Amino acid sequence: MSITFNSLALGDLIQRALRERQYTTPSPIQEQTIPYVLEGHDVMGCAQTGTGKTAAFALPILEHLSQNPKRRTPKSPRVLVIAPTRELAIQIEESFAAYGTHIRFQSEVIFGGVGQNPQVRALQKGPEVLVATPGRLLDLIGQGHINLRQLEVFVIDEADRMLDMGFIHDVRKIIAELPTKRQSLFFSATMPDSIIELASTILTQPKHVEVTPPATTVEKIDQRVCHVAKSDKQGLLTHFLENHDEGLTLVFAGMKHAANRIAENLSKKGIPAAAIHGNKSQTARVRALEDFRSGKIRVLVATDIAARGIDVKGIDLVVNFDLPNEPDSYVHRIGRTARAGAEGRAISFCDELSQGLLRQIEKNIRMSVPVDDSHPFHREPQAGDKDESLQKQSRRERGSNPRRGNRNGRNRNGNREKTSSGNRGGQSANTSQNRNRRRRRQQSGKT
Ligand code: AMP
Repeated sequence: MSITFNSLALGDLIQRALRERQYTTPSPIQEQTIPYVLEGHDVMGCAQTGTGKTAAFALPILEHLSQNPKRRTPKSPRVLVIAPTRELAIQIEESFAAYGTHIRFQSEVIFGGVGQNPQVRALQKGPEVLVATPGRLLDLIGQGHINLRQLEVFVIDEADRMLDMGFIHDVRKIIAELPTKRQSLFFSATMPDSIIELASTILTQPKHVEVTPPATTVEKIDQRVCHVAKSDKQGLLTHFLENHDEGLTLVFAGMKHAANRIAENLSKKGIPAAAIHGNKSQTARVRALEDFRSGKIRVLVATDIAARGIDVKGIDLVVNFDLPNEPDSYVHRIGRTARAGAEGRAISFCDELSQGLLRQIEKNIRMSVPVDDSHPFHREPQAGDKDESLQKQSRRERGSNPRRGNRNGRNRNGNREKTSSGNRGGQSANTSQNRNRRRRRQQSGKT
């Protein structure tokens, strides 16, 4: 017999909101997490976006607020959730508001890139739940608009992405502001050593919860790869969108300017599209997301960071216009379709520079992605195709954080890192074989 929300000891007011949203059964992360949170334990959760983890922490927190009402105190939240991006923060706050619609409580979201005055005014009203991105939170704490002395529950969401985005110092400063007596919930999609170390500074005797590893999640998605020349990718995208009847399509581009160009080209072809990335104003990002959610635009073109946390139901197709440099991002990206059990499609464009990236992705998901050659732009991969991923791979295999390295691929001496330094310890046979192969090609005059 499957578990119900009822058997998870959530009160009637929450159950009613869940029924209204047609949630019938808890997802695995909810089933595991909710009882621990209700019992007051700290939790360390390994779960990706798309698994229902927001409700996994929001529901028991709301239950706690509903069972223990208190008079509101200006500037003093009882629950603090920190998230790496504005989009994710907004969505978490919306989830609290939706699940808690029949409970007497207030929530507020604060993030940078917009004026602080409306946020300061909202904090004066004493919302019980505050969702925040780290920078603006610290700013407002510094100015005396927030104090965390009365905090009861602290949640950190997408901790791995938080570190990737360079927020570690901010996170540590926030932790220093928290009262010692509190409940802490820590969620991350991956658990590298740096994350485990950070968690150990926040959690006390945590209960560990984990949901299906990414490789199983992606199996539900109908994935295809199209081999195509770089110069034909825009044509191929238009071809797919013109032949793919309906539904929302999320397109991933490697760079901000590429995202703009792709969206502009689609709009010119009569396919309503918008781009979303870090250089867009907050207003433009929110508008693009709303237009996408409402179906006013069919295609949203995003970079990885901007897309993080986008929770739009009914994304039918994910297109990797550019393959991600980090194999893990592939799983995050295609997970935007097939959310909470739905099925979805993902198409990846692999050009003459991306064969190595594709191989890394396939190794990571432990399956090969079927090739779709039934389109007019098919290009058979060739032995002489260059491999853009080699540099990044070798850096990764030396155990360094690729972000910490020099972004334009230069080593400490300012030289290109590609081939000059010989075979350093720690590099795989595969990398050195590839390098040798390339050197042989160069020696024989082929490039
Ligand atoms: P999350 O992983 O929190 O981003 O949630 C992913 C999506 O699943 C969101 O659209 C939620 O509204 C939805 N969702 C979460 N829990 C459930 C559930 N128990 N039943 C159906 N949908 C859910």
